[in-house]
Amino acid sequence: MTAVLTGHGMTKAYLHRFDLSEDAKCKCGNEYQSMEHIIFQCAELNDQRELLKRKMGEWPASKEDLITKHKKEFYVFIESIDFEDLNYEIIVNSEGRHVVLPGGVENAQ
Ligand SMILES: [Zn+2]
Repeated sequence: MTAVLTGHGMTKAYLHRFDLSEDAKCKCGNEYQSMEHIIFQCAELNDQRELLKRKMGEWPASKEDLITKHKKEFYVFIESIDFEDLNYEIIVNSEGRHVVLPGGVENAQ
């Protein structure tokens, strides 16, 4: 029953744990690639966002709405994002949180 939604680790708990490093700079030029930026603003994800809007039939939605009543569509949206293409890699830190870090970029410190 839960296999479909948890198949790729995209549970609601996963999304709550999902986090972005503070120094993550987005490919689009935004200085801080927050989850809100990815969901609502990033120009690199316009196509995926349009698809999400069409499936949901209402926009804008709050982040809370996305992970509750629209979670199926939201999972598809998240899974459609190519974080590698955005120059990020997702790692799991020591606290078990998923963190998106700039990938292919030399660590400044
Ligand atoms: Zn961006």
